[in-house]
Parts: sequence; C-alpha cells; structure tokens
Amino acid sequence: MERCDQESGLKQVDIPDYIEYLPVKECNKCQASLLDSEPVKYIERQVFEPGRPGEFEVTAHRAEVKICTCGCRNQAEFPEGVTAAAQYGSATQAMAVYLNQYHFLPFKRVSEYFNTLYKMSVSAGTVANFVARTYENLASTEEVIRDALRESSVAGADETGMRAEGSLHWLHVMRDEQWTLYYLSEKRGREAMDTMGILLTFAGVLVHDHWKSYFAYAATHVLCNAHHLRELLGVVDRDSNQLALRLMKLLRLSWHYCKGFKTIGMLQMPSVVCERIEKIYDRLLQRALMKEVVYMEKQREELKRKKVKNTKAYNLFKRLTEFKAETLRFMSDFTIPFDNNGSERDVRMAKLKQKISGCFRSADGGSMFARIRSYLSSARKQGMDIYQSLHRAVRNYCNMPLLSAE
Ligand SMILES: [Zn+2]
Repeated sequence: MERCDQESGLKQVDIPDYIEYLPVKECNKCQASLLDSEPVKYIERQVFEPGRPGEFEVTAHRAEVKICTCGCRNQAEFPEGVTAAAQYGSATQAMAVYLNQYHFLPFKRVSEYFNTLYKMSVSAGTVANFVARTYENLASTEEVIRDALRESSVAGADETGMRAEGSLHWLHVMRDEQWTLYYLSEKRGREAMDTMGILLTFAGVLVHDHWKSYFAYAATHVLCNAHHLRELLGVVDRDSNQLALRLMKLLRLSWHYCKGFKTIGMLQMPSVVCERIEKIYDRLLQRALMKEVVYMEKQREELKRKKVKNTKAYNLFKRLTEFKAETLRFMSDFTIPFDNNGSERDVRMAKLKQKISGCFRSADGGSMFARIRSYLSSARKQGMDIYQSLHRAVRNYCNMPLLSAE
C-alpha cells in the first residue's frame, strides 16, 4: 500500500487519532446489496490537521473494498479533497494561507509555526503550493468581483507603488462598499487600468485623487476632498491664507450638512442649500485667485522678469474652480462619498505588507497576493468570516455569488 505522499513527503502514521469507515452498501454494477458481505480489504487515506497546541491529529479514512457475486469490485468513495495516502487537511491549508496572505508571514515562518505549535513538518514549499492552489481556486471569483465592480454605481480607485522582482510595480485598487479588486502591474496609468478590465466599460461615479490617467475614462468623476483639504491646509500654513481656511470650513460644513440631511432620509442636499454653498464657493475662489494674481504680478515686477511661476495656491484654486462639479458632487447624491478614504484604506495594507515581509520576489507572488486579497477584502465587506472564507477557498467551494446568497 502507498503510505507516503509524493508532493509533501508526508508519511502515514500507524495509529491514527480518528478512523472513519467508508462502507460499500451495494454493487455499483448490479445494485445487489453488499451489506452482509465482508470487505476483502480497506484502502486507507490519512488527513493531518493541527490539534491541541503541541500535537497534530490524524483522521484515517478507510474505504471498504467488496467483491460482488457478479464479479464487480466495489470501492467506497473518499470524501471530496481526500486524494492522497497521506495529506494535510483543509484546516491546515486555510491556516497556512491565512498566515501568509493575511498576516504577511513568509513561507518559511509559516512552516516554522506549524512545526513549533503542532509538530507538523509542513515545508515552505508546501505552504507555497497551498497558496498557489488557493489562487487557482479563486480564478472565477476574481471575475465575479470584476463584473460586480464594472456594474457598480459608485466606485473608488487608487494605486500605490510596490516592489516586485526587484523593480517598482503598482498595485491598483478599484473598490466600492461591497467589493475590492487589486491588480498588480509593472505599469502605472492607462495601460494597467485597461488590462485591469473595469474602467473601459465603467459607467458609474468614479472617485479618485485627480490623477490625470483616470480622466481618460468616460465615468462621472468625483475628486477626493480629503486631498483638497490637505492641500488647502498647506496653503493656510504656508501663506496664512484666510480664504483657503474659509474654503476648508465651507467644504467641511457642506459635508456636515449632507450627513445631517441623510439622517432624516433625504437622498440629496436641498437645492436652495446647494445654490447657497456654490455661491460662497465661487466667490471665495474668485477672491483667492485674484489675490494670487496680484501677488504674482508684484513678484514679477520685483524680480524684473517677463513671467513668474504660478504659486502652488494659484494652481490649487484654479483646479478647484475648473473642477467645481467634481469637487461638490457629493451634495447632489448622498451615495457619493466626500473623499476617497475608502480606497486609501483598501490600498494601505500593501504598505503594511512591504513593511513586514518586504517585496515580492516574483511577479507571480504579487498576482496571487492581489487575487487572494481581493477575495478576502470583498468577503469582509460582505460580513463574511475571513478564516471561513479561506477555508471555503482552499476546498474550492467558494465563489462570491454563493457567499452573498448565504
Ligand atoms: Zn454486482
């Protein structure tokens, strides 16, 4: 009998902790009852899982083999996923993937964890195999997430630099309240976003931080006001510009109003309030721009030049004027957020990953990470348990529509 698994090098134990007998009740061929006939032998497969700290547990699945009077050899079926003479179970796999992908523990350390805590000799290579299999199992789930985001009415986008294979890559994120999709690319910009495969057909509201590649897409654009507030604060600090301070207050107050109106069940700001806010917004920006123009003109004369560089404040005020609709859109529809903080939150874990376990040694590792984390982030947003979600993923039981329906 085969007692050892080729892939993991795991060997069967002589005395398992649990034994599950898998009976043969009738003949597959002639359907005669075989309840009373004796098995000619058993075929055993063992599944290893973590037990109490310091020990592992082995469940032996013993499949009966019975010969029918018609000559047919009948063997009981093993449970799904029990395929080798000796193998690690789904809990081991889910734990390994959880530690590696969610807590950024490198393969070798995950191996050490199982060794120390459960006396299980799960090698680093075996952990890598678990992750790769989970990645493959989630291929269709990734498509479900992509489709859902294409149809999303309000989604955010962001990106952050990540090192993979020794060079700078970009982790792009598209997300809404239910779904997250990460995508790792060597490129930052249109090429990457096109291959990410959402924005080309996206017709909803797209929240971003004014990076110009996003404007290439025919979405309804919304600009992150957390960025605007930060930039305005910079102007206040640098130039003690009171108009910038008043603009900050106006933006904050408008958002405060929106939240208030939302709690009483309204879907958008009353138009009289909108008009009033817009009027103040226009006036403040006009005055702020004028002040910068006067300042730049004075500088030009002092320096006796034909032209001076626009001040940072001027550029900001100009932008807020030109992109007024994109800045204030949150007032016209309360499903639109004030800022892009959700996307920034979703992409921040990439920084944590780099801090803890460094860069990806291969681009494949990066793609696996992107897909598995897309699934975990979406599952969490939908109120799913992270470990249970991973457990389903390693058994290939999951996909998102099923999860949502549960
Ligand atoms: Zn038979």
